[in-house]
Amino acid sequence: MYIVFAASECAPWAKTGGLADVVSALPRTLVKLGHRVSVFIPYYRQVAKAVPDPPVALQSVTIPFPSYNRFVRILDGGVAGGVQTYFVDCPELFDRESLYATPSGDYPDNAERFGLLSRAVIEASKVLGVPDVFHVHDWQTAMLAVLLRSVYYFDPVFRHVPAVLTIHNAGYQGWFPPKTIETLLLPWDMFTLDKLEHYDTLDFLKGGIVYSDAITTVSRTYAEEIQTAEFGNGLEDIIRRRSGDLFGILNGVDYEEWNPLVDSHIAAHYSADNLAGKKECRRDLLHAFGFEDVGESTAIIGVVSRFATQKGFDFIVDIMDKLVEEDMVLVILGNGEEYYERLLVEMASRYPAKVRVQVKFDNVIAHKIEAGADIFLMPSRYEPGGLNQIYSLKYGTVPVVRATGGLEDTIDEQPFGGGNGFKFWGYSPSALMDALHRALGTFQNKDEWTRMMRRGMTQDFSWDKPAHEYVRVYERVVENRS
Ligand code: ADP
Repeated sequence: MYIVFAASECAPWAKTGGLADVVSALPRTLVKLGHRVSVFIPYYRQVAKAVPDPPVALQSVTIPFPSYNRFVRILDGGVAGGVQTYFVDCPELFDRESLYATPSGDYPDNAERFGLLSRAVIEASKVLGVPDVFHVHDWQTAMLAVLLRSVYYFDPVFRHVPAVLTIHNAGYQGWFPPKTIETLLLPWDMFTLDKLEHYDTLDFLKGGIVYSDAITTVSRTYAEEIQTAEFGNGLEDIIRRRSGDLFGILNGVDYEEWNPLVDSHIAAHYSADNLAGKKECRRDLLHAFGFEDVGESTAIIGVVSRFATQKGFDFIVDIMDKLVEEDMVLVILGNGEEYYERLLVEMASRYPAKVRVQVKFDNVIAHKIEAGADIFLMPSRYEPGGLNQIYSLKYGTVPVVRATGGLEDTIDEQPFGGGNGFKFWGYSPSALMDALHRALGTFQNKDEWTRMMRRGMTQDFSWDKPAHEYVRVYERVVENRS
């Protein structure tokens, strides 16, 4: 089968979160299963820095707008792990400091930027190869499915080509003013509540849900959750209507990238059979955060996260006065919303002996935290899949999580430390503090703790199983449309 991925992120070139890891790893696994895959992403400034002057695959693709055309180039990003990458080059839209937003807010022309991306992938595919399936990701490329079933309806080339949409996070939907319908050259009769309209805005993700042949999301629990008002962010009705075509497929992990036995970013290698190197990683992490004299009985709690309300930082802030009384230090790496950046920096300055924060996006430090910390903290309000807790398991860094979405599906707390981590169900700081107490208490029992680390480290969350599940979804939509 030939599958074309259209996405706004792909590691290592352009990443703000888990989406980039998935778009990088899933195609490579599909290739191992015998399929052909191409991935299209924008040629952002940061991609251009990493891959300057790639060969040109297509010199000029015309993307029409109401009173002008834009002309994009398709650049050949080469083949890695059997996967062909293409970059969509449109400097006036993608040669910018960030992917989606500046600290003061989203780029105002995001609808045009990602509408163009979707159209460019369709147009380029006509020349570079028509796929058996398009696989689109989140609101940024959901419009591809909409275009395919509307303004491309009569194109004989795409008539039988289905689209699969993966929802990595229903909290971000791509809401734009109604006039965007005209900007994207879509007919106004699609601006209705059963299609693209959401409370008088044009909703890209909703369009994707309505027009894709199948919808997947990144864990089974989240597939259930988004059909409820609490997690559906207003899309629950439309998602429920598509429940027969909705599949929860848990994200896998790329163990070539996230594995303490081979990780090139960490101070020493280790595995479940030989944990010695983790001590060195611990020292290295403490050094990276400027800590001195932290003994082995003091637990290192690590956080790597986007700073967003979703991630539960308000819970962490709420319990801080109590947490600093425990035998622990807290290291936080993250960036994102300015509000949380300031709040966390302020907290670190209040408790400099206990709490350190690095405000940036830094892949190397992220790996050092996974390897060097004892406990990984993810108190998310909601978490569609969550990759960091699965990485943590592999690194013997025991997760403490809120039981939601993919966190619920991957972390198992059993009495007397019998599971692979700790979790809390309530929606309160005290529930988080209780879970941390259980974790910190167990940490003092070295035998029990080591058994727990090993249980997580030997679990298999590789992409093999989820990739097979995706193939079954592709086969189903191809058959339904033929
Ligand atoms: P989400 O996609 O909601 O951000 P996930 O847990 O699924 O959450 O994936 C987050 C990914 O982004 C992980 O690979 C994590 O290591 C990475 N990440 C998040 N914040 C940072 C940061 N500040 N620096 C480096 N990597 C980060």
